[in-house]
Amino acid sequence: MISILGGGVTGLATAYYLLKKGYDVKVFEAEDFLGGFASSIKINGEYVEKYYHHIFKYETHIQKLCTELGVKIDWFDSKVGMAYKNQIHGFGSATDLLKLKFLPITSKIRLGLFSLGVPLIKDWKKLEKISAEKWLLKYLDKKTYDIIWKPLLENKFGSYCKKVPASYIWERLYMRTTSKSHPLEREKLGYLNGSFQTLIDKLEQKILDMGADIKKSAPIKKIKTKDKKVVGIKADKTYKSDTVISTLPLPVFRSIVNFPKNYDSNLAKIKYSGVICMILLLENRLSDYYWTNIHNKYSFRLMVEHTNFIKNDFGSNIVYLSRYIPEPNPQMNMPDAQLLDLYIKDLKKLFPHFKKSSIKDYFVFKGKYSNPLISLNFSKKQPKMQTPVKNLYLIDKSQLARLQQGTDNCVKLAKRFVSSF
Ligand SMILES: Cc1cc2nc3c(=O)[nH]c(=O)nc-3n(C[C@H](O)[C@H](O)[C@H](O)COP(=O)(O)OP(=O)(O)OC[C@H]3O[C@@H](n4cnc5c(N)ncnc54)[C@H](O)[C@@H]3O)c2cc1C
Repeated sequence: MISILGGGVTGLATAYYLLKKGYDVKVFEAEDFLGGFASSIKINGEYVEKYYHHIFKYETHIQKLCTELGVKIDWFDSKVGMAYKNQIHGFGSATDLLKLKFLPITSKIRLGLFSLGVPLIKDWKKLEKISAEKWLLKYLDKKTYDIIWKPLLENKFGSYCKKVPASYIWERLYMRTTSKSHPLEREKLGYLNGSFQTLIDKLEQKILDMGADIKKSAPIKKIKTKDKKVVGIKADKTYKSDTVISTLPLPVFRSIVNFPKNYDSNLAKIKYSGVICMILLLENRLSDYYWTNIHNKYSFRLMVEHTNFIKNDFGSNIVYLSRYIPEPNPQMNMPDAQLLDLYIKDLKKLFPHFKKSSIKDYFVFKGKYSNPLISLNFSKKQPKMQTPVKNLYLIDKSQLARLQQGTDNCVKLAKRFVSSF
């Protein structure tokens, strides 16, 4: 019997593909729900992801899985903005770029040509060796870097941003360009009909229908090994297992196995970022943008107006205020009510007439390990799926050749593992 640790998209997809190959599997999930970062809450009877979610056109692995499981994907226009000096500016099309008042026309032309040219680069691996900052400053002027790119990098990576490779920028631009039918138009993004929860539910049902077991509320405390072989896993009790596949974040995985020192210290070098997402249920919409990057040092760094993208009957306007936590930050331990006040203070800089009383309800979600913090030549530092323990395998986002850590890559990693197993 194969034990799969973690009931997020990676764990569930791995279970599903292994079952299709005829293996006997059992999934162990710590929480009493499945889906991990792609799980949802219900608002007015409709599912809403705890963390904003959509898919891009080039993400074909997740699309194929959805088709296979009968989950429909709808494609919607997405309006992108950037908040700079307490004002939101359009930032999703060539026309938006031309309208930006704070950049001289020469900078805008350079930025436009750069954004069109970068996705045409085929050998993105070369870009792993050079820092994003150095590379951007080679092609763009300092003002464009400071206003546009530096805040984007800092928002996601904090002080690690200087180590981020240029391949990250390549992928960001590639992702955006391929989401448009014409490079000069706005992008279209995909959304799973009924939310990402539909995919999680279908995967769960399919896994159960194929005869496998899913054990929820079963946090794995220890992977027991003997003579470099797994002999069992400890949750509420000890379970015997021929093979164990972990889809847990690396820091959690490391904490439950005793690995040889040099292997463990290599895993320890891969640091993870945390994330905070606050959902506000509002009486009124805030803007007409779906996605607004915050280019000022606000307490939150991204605003996503879900109801400017999805038109279900939520009974409220749904807005995510979010930020990554790449290094220690008091927000991670702040009580929800205090965090709300902090975020409102900055929200009022963008919308001076905003009133706390217009918030019908709010929810705060925090994740300690959302994504690995990547550095130069990251592909050389990635751990292999086979660990030094013979029947113990690892599937982790740090194994991605590139840097986007969406559900598409979870499915891709699951398929890669199963095809080589
Ligand atoms: C803010 C944010 C926005 C995102 N937006 C998008 C998007 O727009 N589109 C997209 O495709 N993707 C998006 N993603 C990424 C996507 O949600 C993740 O890539 C995906 O959900 C990760 O799945 P996973 O199974 O690899 O990991 P996780 O979701 O982390 O799943 C790991 C599972 O392991 C469980 N676990 C932890 N410890 C134990 C233990 N000891 N024993 C047993 N179980 C344990 C956890 O409870 C969890 O269920 C976003 C993520 C974040 C954080």
